[in-house]
Amino acid sequence: MSDDPFIERLSQLFGEHGHRPYDGLRREPVTLLEHALQCGQLAEWADAPPTLVAAAVLHDIGHALTRQALQGDRVDDQHERTGAEWLGAFVGPDVTEPIRLHVDAKRYLVATDPGYAHGLSPASTHSLMLQGGPMMAGEVQRFEAIPWASDAIRLRRWDEAAKTPGRSTPTLAYYLALIGALREERRTGPRTHLGPLDVS
Ligand code: FE
Repeated sequence: MSDDPFIERLSQLFGEHGHRPYDGLRREPVTLLEHALQCGQLAEWADAPPTLVAAAVLHDIGHALTRQALQGDRVDDQHERTGAEWLGAFVGPDVTEPIRLHVDAKRYLVATDPGYAHGLSPASTHSLMLQGGPMMAGEVQRFEAIPWASDAIRLRRWDEAAKTPGRSTPTLAYYLALIGALREERRTGPRTHLGPLDVS
């Protein structure tokens, strides 16, 4: 149990929806929870800052907030927007904005990295078309100018790689503690290297 209602709500959302196949009817070989944990792990392995690790873990929380994925897969569920907007009440833009942009980052990478499209899973390829397909040249330039674009691209590459059945990862509790610490830091300001009690 956490005394932070946001952490409690995240725990509840993953508890209720984490067992669902990732990406609805076009089943990926991992669940929503496994995908989130693998994505967080890849971010940590890449030495991402804790805010970007949190974004990696939470990037598909929009799927848990909407039942769209259960209803069908012929429309874009806009889960990146649902997730980022809900999270915005609890965490900063360094967490929400890479999440908001992670679908655009796929459209960007398909347009700019010839090898990337070949590595997309069938579900990602299917949703790409619903999400607008590869970016056009003007969109690519506009995307690159967004301050959070490079974080979103990093997140997107972990997203694609976080679909390995049976991979061992840290637990949800581990990542909820990391996100809880970020929240605490936002409330109290960053800790100095002396620590909060070192004030003789
Ligand atoms: Fe994802």
